Order: sequence, then structure tokens, then C-alpha cells
Amino acid sequence: MKKYLQVDEWKIVEEGFDAENHEISESIFSLGNGRMGQRANFEETYSGKSLLGNYVAGVYYPDKTRVGWWKNGYPEYFAKVLNAAEWAGIEIKIDDEILDLAKCEVSDFRRELNMQKGYLQRTFQAKTASGKKVKVEATRFCSMADDECGAVKYSLTPLDFSAEISLMPFINGDVKNQDANYDEKFWDETGKGFYTNGSFVEMKTKKTDFVVCTGMEFSVSVDDKPISLNPSQTEREKFTGLTQKTLVKEAQTITLYKYAANLSSLNYPKEELQNKTKETLDRVSRKGFVQMLKEQAEAWAEKWQMNDIRIEGDAEAQQAIRFNIFQLEQTYTGADKRLNIGPKGFTGEKYGGSTYWDTEAYCIPFYLATAGQDVARNLLIYRYDQLQKAIENAEKLGFKNGAALYPMVTMNGEECHNEWEITFEEIHRNGAIAYAVSNYIDYTGDESYLATHGLEVLIGIARFWAQRVNWSEARQKFVMLGVTGPNEYENNINNNWYTNTIAAWCLKYALEAVEIVRKNDPQQLEKILQKVKFDSVKEASNFNKIADEMYFPYDETHQVFMQQDNYLDKEQILVKDLPATDRPINQKWSWDRILRSCFIKQADVLQGIYFFQERYDLETIRRNFDFYEARTVHESSLSPCVHAILAAKLGDQQRAYEFYLRTARLDLDNYNNDTEDGCHITSMAGTWMAVVEGFGGMRVKNNLLSFTPFLPEKWTSFSFHINFRNILLEVKVSSDQVQIRNKSNQGLQVSVYDQEHEVPGKQEITVSKS
Ligand code: BGC
Repeated sequence: MKKYLQVDEWKIVEEGFDAENHEISESIFSLGNGRMGQRANFEETYSGKSLLGNYVAGVYYPDKTRVGWWKNGYPEYFAKVLNAAEWAGIEIKIDDEILDLAKCEVSDFRRELNMQKGYLQRTFQAKTASGKKVKVEATRFCSMADDECGAVKYSLTPLDFSAEISLMPFINGDVKNQDANYDEKFWDETGKGFYTNGSFVEMKTKKTDFVVCTGMEFSVSVDDKPISLNPSQTEREKFTGLTQKTLVKEAQTITLYKYAANLSSLNYPKEELQNKTKETLDRVSRKGFVQMLKEQAEAWAEKWQMNDIRIEGDAEAQQAIRFNIFQLEQTYTGADKRLNIGPKGFTGEKYGGSTYWDTEAYCIPFYLATAGQDVARNLLIYRYDQLQKAIENAEKLGFKNGAALYPMVTMNGEECHNEWEITFEEIHRNGAIAYAVSNYIDYTGDESYLATHGLEVLIGIARFWAQRVNWSEARQKFVMLGVTGPNEYENNINNNWYTNTIAAWCLKYALEAVEIVRKNDPQQLEKILQKVKFDSVKEASNFNKIADEMYFPYDETHQVFMQQDNYLDKEQILVKDLPATDRPINQKWSWDRILRSCFIKQADVLQGIYFFQERYDLETIRRNFDFYEARTVHESSLSPCVHAILAAKLGDQQRAYEFYLRTARLDLDNYNNDTEDGCHITSMAGTWMAVVEGFGGMRVKNNLLSFTPFLPEKWTSFSFHINFRNILLEVKVSSDQVQIRNKSNQGLQVSVYDQEHEVPGKQEITVSKS
């Protein structure tokens, strides 16, 4: 773990250039606006180690699966988010010498991500190999207001010489994915060209035929005075650039403003893309950099008003939570229900930018409370729209009668994952998708979702579980064999407690949902039951029987739920006894050794306890927490947040705080030594949960919003906003009291420390901690 970033409440700051940290910083300083995003690659040439990354949401490529031993049922393709055209680049030459920080002496380097206003800024001085000194300031952002656009302002000052400076802003589509299975390039050029002061490259993805047109326009000033341009054109395959040569005197500053646009066939007819790109570029370049930056700050101010968490008294924790929220907002805005939240967002290629159970298990609560009902609903509808594919996925594996198995990894509803122990066995993901529906309804009260979409999904999922279990004569129970739980450090196990628990719950919840729709909209219920051919007597009684007679492993000696059959046969070593040099075990140990060990990658039994907390008394939670936490290495980013929430519930404030820091600063402090691959975006929603559900103790029980907060010792206070059923609340927790301000007109009944209170519209209540 390397800590090299400065602590600042609103900024991420790197001072001094260390090429060793560059790829980590490229992830951390990433930019995005929900529609497109990019790693923080330098604008100018950089020949050192770097992972070039520009991504367009929803544009993917099905890369042919590569495995050693093909197993029937494997998907043929892994759909990957594509490294798309590089639009921020500017090649800089000083009297024919290329500016390249890998070949310069760099001083006064500072990189700053301004999270409050949503831009990235970099300043440095560089001495080139020939001894010329320059000063540079570069600012750029992905616009929230114009979400197909980005802008760069790049200023260069020769400090001790006068020279001809060539600036070549370019669009470079000749890129590839580092994770390409066959080292292939995924794009074909379909057009390119030049405008007076700009250019474009249009490309089409192989196989999927998405077309993306990426264009740029630019202007140049010297000492703030615009100069007239006479650029020369450079073109190669998938590349266009325009070189402007200008004589710049010592201490003068030359500034290039570059406006870029990325338009895709997801949103426009293909034949209109080139024109629309030009129109968009003309519009934003007329607006200008200053105005765009102003609109960017306004858009972010609006977001922060809704979702900021303020922590007083702990700058590190404050910076961390804002970083998490900032990255989540950059990844998904909810504007488009065809999009989802890749575990690395726009910060890297790993996980293919695809949708995982992470969205339903970890991200829904954040978007529900901060972005509102429609956004969370869009995330649910994304899965509803893929139900047919989930049914086909299940059919490929031999299931029938409308059973749906949602994929572990997907872009378009088809399974992409191709390791049998996950593709076929990590089926608990199906449960999270049903759980999200119930979470959404509990939070919003919007039962109508069941009649319009939810019930069909729930029936499909329940049917899968009903077929996936089998009756064990020996146990006289239903069992589930050959699965992988959330703990991927052991596969092909029997009776994973978490999977059996969520499966039984899904079966019951599907039936509950039938009754809710029957009550609210009996005609619609009939339509759905006919459509999916659900036998509400026979099939329903089968669901009930399986759920009632499911086997749940339990150990009497420790009085804990058993993660899986025979877990206790493993040599029981505690994480505290693991030498630090052995960790992370997934980087230090063979896979064979990991599989045989008792070490748990991420919350598994505890994930189930977290989901269904109201079923268990505190003592049960404590015993399970103490048992499993001691064996958990948290090598999935999704683990610490669940532990933080449960530790908080158990009143273990110290541990709750430690887990919080671990989830919140996972990338900033590179805890798992993998931030260079990209940031852990989905676990960032877990960080938010750690504060709001952990320290804030927020829950919704029987339509009542409740809080049982505590203040971490190091903090003076913390506050957060939530939108609950269209009522905007600000909750502020200090050491001896909780203040709840209702910013809407309508009053709301809430529970604080198990006492009910009315918070009238536009008023505030204060509840003292007794
Ligand atoms: C975790 C999975 C998760 C995936 C993507 C893996 O390391 O074990 O639970 O879905 O990462 O975040």
C-alpha cells in the first residue's frame, strides 16, 4: 500500500511526479459524465508506462472467449467495453523536440482532481533533453451539461527560450484493449476528415456495428489573444490531427482550447453521426471553455447539494467519501436505462465495463436515496429488459419452463463469464436481482413496479431456484449442490448458506409479489400469470414447500450458520495469524492453496445477515460476525462495507470505523494493490452505505424511515442528504444529538433511536441521544 496523495476535503492532489505511481493516478484522476469517460492519461506524449483509456458507455465488443478446456454452456463471447478514440491528446513539439515527461526532468508537478467543480488540472515544469525549460498548465473535464463532450485547455510557457512551438491536437482511434483475448483491434474506420479548425474520426465496432464519431475543434491564443490558425493536416488510419506552428517568445504563454465530442449510434442514426458531431462541436466551441467550465461547476454544485456527505473533524474520511460519491456520479447518472454500472466504471478495462450483481447488491441503495426513484427504477428495468435473455441463459444450461438465470457478467443480457465455477455456479447473483426489487419497493413504496415489470422477473428467478435444488433423501431437506457463494475462494461447494438463504427468500417473495399484485391490480395479475404461464396453485405450493424445507447448514458448537457443508473440515487459521507478507493471498499464494484454506474473500454468510438483518437477534449477528470476520481477508472491494454496517449495528464503533476507512480509501490508498487497473466503482456505493446505513443506522421498516446513528470518535459531526419518497431530508449527527431538516413542503414521520417523530415540511427537529 502506497500513500502518496495529499489530503484535501474537496480535491485529490498529487504533488511531485513519480512514474511508478502514474498508472495508479491515471485511474484515480479519471473523468466521466455517465455517457463517456477516460483515464487521466496525459494530453501530451508520454512514452512511460501508461494505460490509455477512453470509453463510451454502452458501446461494447464481444471478444471471442479464450479458455483452455471448453465446457458446454460457456458463452462464446465476453462483451467488453471498448477502449475508444483518444480525444484529449495534443502532441507538442518545441523546435521539433517532442514534449514527453518520460524524457524530461520534471519539477513542480501537481495533479489535482477538483471534485467540487468536476475538473482535472495538472501543472508542471519540464526541462527537455536539449535543456529547454517550459511551464505547463492543463485543465480538462467531461461535461455534465453536454454529456457527449469534453474540453481541454492546455497552456505552455517557454521559460528560458523562444522557439517555434507546434501543437497538434488529434483524434486517435488506433487504439486497442489491453485485455483483448486475441490481441485484435476492435474498431474499423468508417470515415475521417477535417474541418477548418478541427477534425474527426468515425469508427465502427467489429461484430456489434456500433458507430462512434469522435471529433474535435480547437482555437489557440498567445497571452490570451486569439491568433489566426493555418494548421497542416496529418492523417493516418483512424487518426486525424492538425498541427499549428507558432513562434512563442520566452515568457509568453500559448494556450490551446480543444473541444471534443463523442457521438454514438446508440443515440443517432448512423448516417447522421458525422453531421451531428460537427453541429455539437460548433455549439460547444461557440459556448467556449470558460462557459462550459462554469456549467460544469453548476452541474456538480447541483449534484453535491443532493448527495454530499459532510464529515467534520476528519479530513481524510471527508476526502474519501467525496471521492467515492464523485466517481459514482461520473459513472452512472441514471439518464439512460440501457446503461449500467461497471465495477471499474470508466477508469479501466478490467471487468469489461459489464454489469455484475454489484449493481443490485451494492449500488441500488445509493442511487435510490440520492438520485431518486426514477434512476433506481431504470436500473431495475435494465434487468427487466434482459429477462428473455436470462431465460435463454437458463435454457442453455438445461432449465425450462421460464426459469431465468441472470448472467454473472453482461452487457446485453447474455452471459459473458467463462469460468465454470463462476458462470455455472455463482448463481447467488440471481437472488440479488430479486432482492433489489424488494429493496426498491420498501424504499419507495412503489408497489406498481411489480405489476408493470417486477413480478415477471421474480417468477423467472424463483423458477430457476425451484429447479436448481434437489430433494435429499438423506437429509429430508432440499439441498443445493455445486455452487460458488460470494466467497470465490472456494468453488463447487454444497449448501452455501447464503445461496440457500437467498433462494428460499426469492421463492417466498415471488409468491408475496403475486399477492401484492392481486390486491392492487387483479386484472394485470391475470395477464401476467397467463403470459408467463404461472400455475398459482401447483407451482406456488411447490415454491412454498421448497422454501419451507430448505436445508441451512448450522454449527451447534460455534452456534453459527455454516458457510457451506464441511467448512469446518478446513484447517481453521485466523487472518490475524497470517503473516503480512502473505497478503493479499490472491497475489502471494497459489490458487490451489487458497481453495484449500479457510480464508474467505468477502462477506458471504455476513452478506446474507446484512440483507435479512431483521430476522436475527443481535447475539446471533455477533456470533456470526466474530466467527467470519476473523477468517475474512476482504480481497474483494465489496467486503469491508458489509462488515462496517454490521459492526456499527453491533455497536462496535471502532471496527466499524476501520472498515469504513478501508472501503472509503481503498483506491486512494491502493489497499488491494490493484488500483492501476481502475477504481473499484461499485464498492464505492458500499462506502456510502457504510456511512448512511452503518454510522447513520438508516433503515426502512414497514414504510417508516428510521435512524439509530452514532458518531465515530474521530469525527465532530457528519451529515448526509437523502431523498425519501420525494421528501428531501438532511440528517446531521453530532455526539449527543441528531438533527433532521426537512427541505420539502410535506411532513414526514421518522423514527430516531426507536422513537417516532414528525418532521414537518420545511422544518427541523433535534433529537438528543439519551
Ligand atoms: C467479486 C464479485 C464481484 C466482482 C466485480 C469480484 O472480485 O468477488 O463479487 O461481483 O469482483 O466487482
